[in-house]
Amino acid sequence: MAVNTTDNEIKRLTPEETAELKKVLEQKRDALNESAREVLNSQIMEEIRAADEIDQASTEYEHSFEYRLRDREKFLLRKIEKALQRIKDGEYDLCESCGDPIGKKRLTARPETTYCIVCKEEQERQERMFQKKRQQQRSQMEF
Ligand SMILES: [Zn+2]
Repeated sequence: MAVNTTDNEIKRLTPEETAELKKVLEQKRDALNESAREVLNSQIMEEIRAADEIDQASTEYEHSFEYRLRDREKFLLRKIEKALQRIKDGEYDLCESCGDPIGKKRLTARPETTYCIVCKEEQERQERMFQKKRQQQRSQMEF
């Protein structure tokens, strides 16, 4: 009897599935670029208004919030562009770390991901450990 592949084995994407996700990525990228333009426009308006505003503090607060938002968007945009490049290179659905297929389910949920779930969880675990260590170092410096 032929060896059957198990249901939970992660397979590589078909060209059709890759094309579908490419479309999703391109739409996401366009939406981000659009919102980046809007933020820029609203910042110009904000600066004109701030010129004769007394409440500078709240304006500055809003600005720092916008910058943080833009940093997050820029980060996502870079990931999306990287994913699109990986599609071109034909390695889109392969984990950047271990080389195993990432799987359709995970890529559909997060089309910009470059890690399989196992490597992603490991990475997050290490990030948490690193943050904890940094917090500990910081609190030791403060007290
Ligand atoms: Zn992996």
